[in-house]
Amino acid sequence: MDQRKRIAIYGGTFDPVHSGHLEVGRRVSQFFAIDEFLFMPARLAPHKVGQEAASALDRYAMLALATQDDPRLSVSQFELDGPGRQYTVDTLGHFRSRCGDLVDLFFVLGADSWAEITTWREWQRLLTLANLIVVTRPGHETDVDDFGGATSDIVDLRGENKPVTVDMIAAEAPRIFVTDVVMIDVSATAVRRAVREPGGEKLEQLVPPSVADYIRKYGLYRNTNEQ
Ligand code: ATP
Repeated sequence: MDQRKRIAIYGGTFDPVHSGHLEVGRRVSQFFAIDEFLFMPARLAPHKVGQEAASALDRYAMLALATQDDPRLSVSQFELDGPGRQYTVDTLGHFRSRCGDLVDLFFVLGADSWAEITTWREWQRLLTLANLIVVTRPGHETDVDDFGGATSDIVDLRGENKPVTVDMIAAEAPRIFVTDVVMIDVSATAVRRAVREPGGEKLEQLVPPSVADYIRKYGLYRNTNEQ
């Protein structure tokens, strides 16, 4: 019997969580047979300092509401629990050492984040700590040829409809999987913009009802300066 477990960590600002993030959680869990899919809200993403619009508590609360009804999806407080937990490399290092050998660890990110990976703190070490799942995103190229690391570790699954088998994962070194199982043109920027539009009906198309209700109830995103 295969006792291995697959845990996926999905890092981000989630300011707020939207239907694109949730579809990534659901589809990636299915396609990669993930047992536990953890949304990992950042205390303050180092590259987004000054752009955060809602507090960490609000971002966490919205994620909790949005994932409440899906047993495979949950939210981790790990990065919010300590001031020194800002960097993905440290989070993955923590989970890698805590999880032990029977766990395959995955870090999930969108094409736009992937395009910036070489600017992340200790990105080369990061790639040794977990498999990566790069998810395509409309309007963002997913370039695998121009990658500054070892391209031989990249498994391009675009166009594949069959779920990823255990053999593909059980490699000596972690791999970088690229998948197009999700192609949704939604962003947190669009959600914040929708809140400021008169009437605000578009909000319901971008976030689940519980998150839309929370945003309205607590008056989030009404006064941000962004365009
Ligand atoms: P913003 O509009 O404020 O930049 P965002 O929508 O990109 O926010 P983040 O919280 O920054 O949301 O994203 C967290 C992670 O989810 C990142 O790796 C990002 O690339 C990915 N992501 C966000 N939206 C999508 C989407 N529609 N499809 C695929 N990946 C996505």
